[in-house]
Amino acid sequence: MRTGIATVCLSGTLKEKMQACAIAGFDGIEIFEQDLVTSPLSPEQVRSMAADLGLGLDLYQPFRDFDGVTPDLLKANLRRAEAKFKLMSRLGMDTILVCSNVATATIDDDGLRAEQLAQLANLAGDHGVKVAYEALAWGKYVNDYEHAYRLVEMVDHPNLGTCLDSFHILSRDWETSHIEAFNPEKIFFVQVADAPKLSMDVLSWSRHYRVFPGEGQFELAKFMGHVVRAGYSGPVSLEVFNDVFRQSDVERTAVDAMRSLIWLEEQSAKWLAGNAAGGAVDAGGALRRRYPMELATLPKVSEPAGFNFAEVKADDTAQLEKLLGQLGFAFEGRHRTKDVQLWTMGQARVIINEQAAQHAEPAIAALGFDVDSPVIASARAQQLKAPVVARKVQADEEVFQGICAPDSTEIFLCQGSPDGTAAWTREFGEGLEHPSAGASAVIDHVNLAQPWQHFDEAVLFYTSALALEPQPFAEVPSPSGLVRSQVMQTSDGAVRLVLNLAPVQQAPARQTYQEHIAFAVTDLVATARSARGRGLEFLQIPANYYEDLDARFDLEPGFLATLQELNLLYDRDADGEFLHFYTATVGSVFFEMVERRGSYDGYGAPNAPVRHAVQYDSLHRSQPSS
Ligand code: MG
Ligand code: MG
Repeated sequence: MRTGIATVCLSGTLKEKMQACAIAGFDGIEIFEQDLVTSPLSPEQVRSMAADLGLGLDLYQPFRDFDGVTPDLLKANLRRAEAKFKLMSRLGMDTILVCSNVATATIDDDGLRAEQLAQLANLAGDHGVKVAYEALAWGKYVNDYEHAYRLVEMVDHPNLGTCLDSFHILSRDWETSHIEAFNPEKIFFVQVADAPKLSMDVLSWSRHYRVFPGEGQFELAKFMGHVVRAGYSGPVSLEVFNDVFRQSDVERTAVDAMRSLIWLEEQSAKWLAGNAAGGAVDAGGALRRRYPMELATLPKVSEPAGFNFAEVKADDTAQLEKLLGQLGFAFEGRHRTKDVQLWTMGQARVIINEQAAQHAEPAIAALGFDVDSPVIASARAQQLKAPVVARKVQADEEVFQGICAPDSTEIFLCQGSPDGTAAWTREFGEGLEHPSAGASAVIDHVNLAQPWQHFDEAVLFYTSALALEPQPFAEVPSPSGLVRSQVMQTSDGAVRLVLNLAPVQQAPARQTYQEHIAFAVTDLVATARSARGRGLEFLQIPANYYEDLDARFDLEPGFLATLQELNLLYDRDADGEFLHFYTATVGSVFFEMVERRGSYDGYGAPNAPVRHAVQYDSLHRSQPSS
């Protein structure tokens, strides 16, 4: 698959954008007109720079408001087009994007439109240029990709074809299978963008909220499957207008963009293998039917089987040790060569890492996931351009395959074992073979705060590298703003990761990045009582909460009193019940204990605003008021 990206996706100058695209490994780029107009580089310099960088200049865009106009306007439009064709020849480019008219069209007549497009195609032919005509989702008269294609067929000129843009097609919910009937010679270009499903006008949605494939909710693999089946083999190019990407680091965004295309290519091949209309799938799932577009695949991973461990880094570990002890965790000893402690409760393993942690406030630093094959999972992540974590290992120590998540959390790919133990625990204490007896517990979920500029990147990272499935996102009110919350999980719920986009605030940094590790136990009331017996201070839940709880759920009075006495939170839905409580925050970390009853699958979402408010309150009380 030939990969491309429009310069409008990225921040920086045209030169910086082109360099970042080359570093990220794109085959070609689309030059967005404004990037050229504002550049000090001459068209000839852009051409030679692209050649030096090994980048194809695949599309010049956009040319707006051409068709369906009065004769006077047509004359002006053709003059404007000729100027661009001459410019393209200096750039060494041969394809231009012409969007359906949104502003100046006054005549709704396909015959006239075809006649005018034919004149444009003739002129383009004189200059060796190909015109890719695209239906904008908000085009005045032409806003449907099949309509645009019908016009191309009516004109039937070798210099006129269509551009298929996934956003304009999927935002309108047009049926995509009809692409397969298109003549591939008439598809001049394909642009891809994903987007979250939003209810808003399609122009604003397109200009601000497009995201890279895998970061939104469009069915892009299916769209691409139909494009491939049509016989198209040209560039597949990202055209993503996004307010955040346009102000983030250009090289990093280019890599995120490239990752999205590598992932989409694999997903498209998978979709084709699973939807073999006309083609045959052999026993290995490979498609016997060949299409002109070659689709590369990736090392296969299945979703992780569970959390292997969670690691908290801290300089001063006293408060963490106290909290874990009060919750019922057992200290299993120190690592035999490193400044690292292991704490366990059943199969829940927490590492406290004191290495390279000078002056560091306690923070979640790493997560271990159980996978079938750490080597294959790591190979996949690296092909998806995930940075590798370098860790010192001594002889006969377990070597972990580690990759770095967009928020710098280190992700370790561990060999899972059926009995839930981990071989590396032998490196601790006196040679720990088995987890301590005691309450059975597992890591239920981990909640990570994401920097605003890396949120979408993180969704794609966990989707593509770890095969976690993004759930519809929620917004949780907190005293300092709305918190966007995105659950990423495995289909069986064994791994649940919650990505939170914290509001940008003026408050001290420690308030911005509160993260937590939640442990599931089988009897939360008993766990809470023992913890209280060991002196644990709970987050104090307001009495108003329990009144509201009673009003909503009509709880048995004794049970309600127990919840209130122990500061427990409660939720119930059609699947089951959920009990949980939170500890105080140490550094940027706090812990949560949960009990899932029945097949409750959520996270106590109705209680999240209470938690935010109580934490906000307790942090403010602990600050000196200036
Ligand atoms: Mg487009
Ligand atoms: Mg939670």
